[in-house]
Amino acid sequence: MGLFSKDITTMDELFTHVLQDIYYAENRILKALPDMIERSTKRELTAAFKSHLAETEKQVSRLEQAFELMGEKPKGTKCPAIDGIIDEAQEIAGEIGDKRVLDAALIAAAQAVEHYEITRYGTLITWAGELGHSAVAKLLSITLSEEKAADKKLSTLGKAKINKRAPALRK
Ligand code: ZN
Ligand code: FE
Ligand code: FE
Ligand code: FE
Repeated sequence: MGLFSKDITTMDELFTHVLQDIYYAENRILKALPDMIERSTKRELTAAFKSHLAETEKQVSRLEQAFELMGEKPKGTKCPAIDGIIDEAQEIAGEIGDKRVLDAALIAAAQAVEHYEITRYGTLITWAGELGHSAVAKLLSITLSEEKAADKKLSTLGKAKINKRAPALRK
């Protein structure tokens, strides 16, 4: 959909647009996670990324089911927000020379991704309810719970295991 063509006039069309946005985002995340698995050094963090990769695959198919329920073909629309979050994460990761600091940066980046997803799914679930697409709302609620759990897990890993081990000052 073009930036200047004003092709969205109904809430259903806006809903579809945001569904396409998160579909693009989940697919971008799917491509970014193997790199985060590769870069992470703490075993629990690598495991958390791996399990979220498996979840993300399921989330993509849930979105495909949602499109189907809406009578639409699954399609992505470029999401500059997720592109920015992931590009920024890769850029900073490339500049870090200490593995514990790198783990802390990866957690921060992953949480930014989770928070983006949480806001998108939250909106979609509210709109789906209001527009009478209750089956879609239910489906997306499963994903939202997974995103929230992933975020919580990352918070715990950051606080308890990783951030504290990273050197605070340059020696
Ligand atoms: Zn558009
Ligand atoms: Fe996701
Ligand atoms: Fe977006
Ligand atoms: Fe996620």
